[in-house]
Amino acid sequence: MKSETYEELRERSYEYLTLNRFPGTKEHKEAKSIIKNLLREKGIPFVEENFLVKKRVPIGAYLKVNEHYIRAFPFVGSLSGTFEGYVKENFVEGDIALQEAKSINFELIKSKNVKAVVCYLNSLDHIFYGGVQEDLAIVSIKKSDLPKVKDFYAKLYVKSKEEVIRCSNILLELGKGPVVYLVAHMDTKPETYGAVDNGLASFILPYIYQELREDFRIPFRIRVLITDCEEVGLEGAKHHLSKVIKHAYYCLNLDGIGWSSPAIIYRDSDGYNDYELSEKFYRIAKQVGLEAQLKAVPSAKSDHIPFKKLGLKTLFLSSHPLPIRHTICDNYDAIDWQIARLWFVAILHFLKNLGRT
Ligand SMILES: [Zn+2]
Repeated sequence: MKSETYEELRERSYEYLTLNRFPGTKEHKEAKSIIKNLLREKGIPFVEENFLVKKRVPIGAYLKVNEHYIRAFPFVGSLSGTFEGYVKENFVEGDIALQEAKSINFELIKSKNVKAVVCYLNSLDHIFYGGVQEDLAIVSIKKSDLPKVKDFYAKLYVKSKEEVIRCSNILLELGKGPVVYLVAHMDTKPETYGAVDNGLASFILPYIYQELREDFRIPFRIRVLITDCEEVGLEGAKHHLSKVIKHAYYCLNLDGIGWSSPAIIYRDSDGYNDYELSEKFYRIAKQVGLEAQLKAVPSAKSDHIPFKKLGLKTLFLSSHPLPIRHTICDNYDAIDWQIARLWFVAILHFLKNLGRT
C-alpha cells in the first residue's frame, strides 16, 4: 500500500469518524453521503440497497431513589414506561434486576418476571449503549452511580419511541467468479461515534477496493458490502440475504478493528467460523507484523452470522477485549493507527492470496 493512500485515509476518515451514525439521524445520513462521495470521487461504481426497519428508539431515562435523580439511558429496543421496585443483583419476581452490561442473563430475567433491568459497565465508568431484542425495559447507568441505586427502592422512568427508520447498504463489486464477501457495518449505537466499532473498517473498504483494482488477479468476485443497522439487530446483512445469493463461498467480516488487541474470532455466539480461513489469516497477519490473537468469544455477534447460517465459510476480524465498545470512549482518538495500518496490509495480502494455498 502506498503511504499517500494511507495518509489520505487517515485524514479523510476524521470527518466520518466524528459523526454519530445511529440510523435515522441527520449525522447518519451525512456519514452515508461521505462514503458515497468518496466512491464517486474514486470512480468506484456502487449500488445502494434501501430498506426500512421498525425499532423502538431510545429517548431518555432516569432513576429516582428517595429524592435523588440518577441519569440513565435506554437500550435500543427498550420498552417505555415507569417501573417501580427494589434494584437487586439477586433479583426475585417484582424487582428491578441489576446486571453487568456485558453479561446480562436474559434467560434468568425472563424466567423471574422482573419489572425492568438496570445495567452498568464493569470495566469503565461510562454509560453503555446497548440493544435488546426482547420486550423489556432496560437502561444503563454509570458504575459510579451503583451505590446510589443498589438495594434501594427506585422509580425508573424510560422513554423510547417506535420509529420506522430508512437505511441502506452499499455494494461494490470487483472481478469475476465465485463471490467473496467483504463486510463491515457503518452504523453506531446512539450517542456514540463508534470509531473502532465500526467506522474505521467501513471507511477502509473503499480504499481496499481501490488497492485491489490496481492489479486484480484473484479468481473470485469480491463483493464489498457496507452494511447498515448492524447495531440494531444485523438488519442490513439480513436484508441483503433476503434475496437469493448464488455462488458465494466466503464472508470476511471486519467489525471492531483498529484497537490495541487485534483478534481473529474463530468462535462466536453462533459457533465456529472457518478454521482454515482463521488460521490462514493468522499466518498472513503475522508475516506483515500484526500480532492478532485467535480467540473464542461466545458473546460476539456480527454481520457474518447470517452468512454463516447460509453455509458460507466465515472469517471474523475484530479486537478483543474491546472495553470502549458502545461507549463515548470509542472515538477518533481511540484508534491505534499503527495497528490500523497493519490490518489494512494484512487484509489486502490475505485477499490477494485467495485461491492459493
Ligand atoms: Zn460493531
